[in-house]
Formats: sequence, structure tokens, C-alpha cells
Amino acid sequence: MLRLIKKRQYKQESAKGKIPIRLKSLLHKCPWPVLTDKPIYIKQGFDEKKHYYTSNYHPAIDLQADSGSAVISPIRGRVVYLEYDIRAEGNYIEDLGMDYVLPAIPDPKFKNLIDLYLWDRENKLVCILCHLDGTSIPNKIKGKRNLDMSCGPEVEMGEFIGRIGKFPNCSDEDRKIPKAVKRIYGNQQHHIHLETHYYPTSSETSRDFLIFLNEQRYVFNPLLILQEI
Ligand SMILES: [Zn+2]
Repeated sequence: MLRLIKKRQYKQESAKGKIPIRLKSLLHKCPWPVLTDKPIYIKQGFDEKKHYYTSNYHPAIDLQADSGSAVISPIRGRVVYLEYDIRAEGNYIEDLGMDYVLPAIPDPKFKNLIDLYLWDRENKLVCILCHLDGTSIPNKIKGKRNLDMSCGPEVEMGEFIGRIGKFPNCSDEDRKIPKAVKRIYGNQQHHIHLETHYYPTSSETSRDFLIFLNEQRYVFNPLLILQEI
């Protein structure tokens, strides 16, 4: 049974935003993507503001747990892309601008971290899980290095897809860690960033897909699909 460090915070965070109407059948139906005996901390919640990755904007949730914790797929779908973790450094928007370049050159600090893109075509749902340990990705998924929505290994809801990687410590953030979290995780910052987008567009070209995600047109609070706690 999954536990959270701050339950009141969960209530506030899960009340943010609305699930797209066509995804109603998934409301609070999906498993949380982290398996651990320790309580998880929602390190950062969903932010609805529409300024892509400027200062505090966060169109996702960050789930903190130990590095090495198992990560499972919250949805049934296809792995359409694995990428080096470039957004942790804030250069995502340049890389995915109108002339996006793939693959991007990874920052050495984040070199073993991988982002995994899942596409549930039936529901038109995209889940992006960031900061996985690159060495932990199962063989069946590992080779998916080019974005192509028309092919990729299928994963079931709840299937093992990797482990939480080692996120570098940022000293600025140490001061903001609540005591209850510090008791369990110390100054560590290891977490999974989970982003969910509704993608109703019929085009499945990589370019349209990335531009759409970049525009954040139908990004929504991932806590709305995760099981209620
Ligand atoms: Zn995040």
C-alpha cells in the first residue's frame, strides 16, 4: 500500500485542474509509478500556469523516493521514445523549438538519467516519466532511442519499466526540504517527474507530436489519473 509523507498536501494537489473529458474513464484508475516501502513525497505539484518551464512553472508532479526504487508504468501503452534527461538543465525548449534537434547532447551531470515517453493511442494519452536510471531500463524497451509513435514495445499498466535514477543535489534546494522529508530522505533529491498530456491530434509524426507537447495544449494534473490515496 502506497503511503505519502504529507497527506494534506495530497488533498490540495489532487484538487488542481480537470481531467480532459475524453479521459474520464481513467479518473483515479492508474497505479502510482513508484514502488517502495517508504512513504513518497510529492516534491513538487502541478502548476497550471502557461509559461513553459519559466521560473516556477511545473506542468507535472515530482514524486520523491530513494534512487533505485522500481518504476512501473501507470498506463497501458507503447514506449515511443527514450531520451537523455535534458530538461533538468532547462534547455528543453531550445532543443524542441521549431527546428528541434534529436538527440540532444546530454549534460554530464545528468548523463545516466533517461526520460521515457509512453503513448496510449486508444485513449490519446501521453505519459512522460523523467529521471530514470539509464542502466535500469529493461532490455525490451532499451533500444527505443528514436521518437516514432507508430512503433515501440508495448507495456502493460503496472509493468516494470526501470528504476529511479540519482538526481544531482542542488544546494539551494536543501534549505527548503520539510523536516518530515529530511528525516526519511536526508538532502537527497531523487525523484520521478511525471507529466500527462491528452493528445487528440490525428498526426503521429514526431515533429507534430513534439511541438504539441511543447505547447502544453492539453497538459493536465497527473494526480487525476493516479489512484486515490
Ligand atoms: Zn518535475
